[in-house]
Amino acid sequence: MLYYSGPVARLVDEFAKLPGIGPKTAQRLAFHILNAPPEAAQNLARALIEVRQSIKRCSICCNLTDEDPCHICRDTTRNPKILCVVEEPRDVVAMEKARGYRGLYHVLHGAISPIEGVGPDNLTIKELLNRLQTGEVEEVILAANSDVEGETTALYLARLLKPLGVKVTRIAHGIPVGSDLEYADAMTLNKALEGRGEFG
Ligand SMILES: [Zn+2]
Repeated sequence: MLYYSGPVARLVDEFAKLPGIGPKTAQRLAFHILNAPPEAAQNLARALIEVRQSIKRCSICCNLTDEDPCHICRDTTRNPKILCVVEEPRDVVAMEKARGYRGLYHVLHGAISPIEGVGPDNLTIKELLNRLQTGEVEEVILAANSDVEGETTALYLARLLKPLGVKVTRIAHGIPVGSDLEYADAMTLNKALEGRGEFG
């Protein structure tokens, strides 16, 4: 971004670091901000800072929340005996939208991927094991994505959890191989949940 003055170049650089934003889009966004009323830039800046200050991980399920514990963990109408383990907070959103699940969640914040240098220690597996200590959870549903990383993660977790005497199931039916949970429609997701099978 040699041709822009310092502040513009910095803004373009920051936009270009965002996922899915190439250099061209980064420039377009930067000039959009420059041409917009000053309040628009202030509102965006404030929203960025606020989201980082107020959103944290739930100390129970590790989902992102502005209140700890999150509203799902605090919901006493949900079944605390079932835990659905998902990769990302957006998967919780997809499951909640599908409305077919009334248990609790655990968010791993990723999947095991040796290529990307993500190992079990980079995920919230320790937190998951801690939750199982009380013995209240009877079933863990592995709802990691059906791509290689998701399957690797599910297999790793199944091996880790089974000796603890908890029922370990994997959602399978209807979710196309290699696809992300968040792109499954509600009916597919609910069917996948109903048709879950015991792992291994
Ligand atoms: Zn929570």
